[in-house]
Amino acid sequence: MEYRTLPHGGEQISVIGLGMGSIHNASPSEIADTVRAAMDAGVNYLDFAPSDAAAFEPYARALRGRRDKVMLQVHLGADYSSGQYGWAIRNPKLAIAQFEKRLQGLGTDYADFGFIHCIDEDDDFDAVMNGPLWEYAERRREDGTIRHLGFSTHNAAIARRFLATGKMDMGMFSLNPMYDYTDESAYGQGSANDRATLYREFEAAGVGISVMKPFAGGQLLDAAASPFGAALTRIQCLQYALDKPGVLTVLPGVRGLADLEDILRFADATADARDYSVIGSFAKPADTGRCVYCNHCQPCPEGIAIGLANKYYDLANMGDEMAAWHYRELSRHAGDCIQCGHCDARCPFGVAQSARMEEIAAYFGE
Ligand code: SF4
Ligand code: SF4
Repeated sequence: MEYRTLPHGGEQISVIGLGMGSIHNASPSEIADTVRAAMDAGVNYLDFAPSDAAAFEPYARALRGRRDKVMLQVHLGADYSSGQYGWAIRNPKLAIAQFEKRLQGLGTDYADFGFIHCIDEDDDFDAVMNGPLWEYAERRREDGTIRHLGFSTHNAAIARRFLATGKMDMGMFSLNPMYDYTDESAYGQGSANDRATLYREFEAAGVGISVMKPFAGGQLLDAAASPFGAALTRIQCLQYALDKPGVLTVLPGVRGLADLEDILRFADATADARDYSVIGSFAKPADTGRCVYCNHCQPCPEGIAIGLANKYYDLANMGDEMAAWHYRELSRHAGDCIQCGHCDARCPFGVAQSARMEEIAAYFGE
């Protein structure tokens, strides 16, 4: 398992996490076994917002004695008083009571991440961030009950409002090729360019992204259901999300042990299996010409890490000084480019990469 560092805090977070949205399909004993098997495989980041309250007990059972080995996203605004998931962001009293019940049920006195849950509209953002729920979250952050504050949203504009508070350490955001390149879903509106910029804003702000809906609810895995008319694999979708700036972990919603096994194959997947560059042929021409850091254009005869050099350049351009430092630490730089044109010919996203190399070299003054 690969781990990435939380910028505010330094915790090591597994790149594969566990979503809970579909786990209620399994029996209680399989739920507990799934959580244990995930932890055994090195997964240490778990979401804690299932569709059904029945999943809490087996989760708690699986975590017994291992609570300190994992990090949990516990949501402020998810309500299970009916037994099913409900949205309680407009009822702060209920949201707080439910949050505390989640911790009691786990037999723990802290949440690694306390998430303001699923806000997609400005009115809700204004009400929550100027009301008792946010006051409570900040108070719990101060007394250590919440170790990191975070949020979840499907809306890029709302994500930006959360980033602007300067209080957030992690944001859960819906991210996949379908949401980035089409407006087919209400969960993924906005242009590909704007969404790409948003991911860079997360990284520049030091706020991690925990990815929800990496397979667009399974739509991307099925050629008949995908707006692209072709199926992608889970491994391609995971790599796609993990290549985006800011992304620390991807949380697929597993339905049990078989799904978990599928997801964990990512760890040993070859570069070919991870290659998602076919997406370049799905994208509208207006959404291409921009490097997505996929590295399909490798190998570069000069050994330049093309995807990384581009990612650091884009981030440095936004004022991210760490990115500029990372760029300088690369063993080969854009100035080493010999303009062979191999990357131009290979790029499925229509990027004039050799020209980009000149631009990058000029920016960093080499
Ligand atoms: S130039 Fe094209 S192929 Fe190379 S990393 Fe960028 S998007 Fe991928
Ligand atoms: S054009 Fe430059 S960056 Fe692209 S493959 Fe050739 S040497 Fe590498």
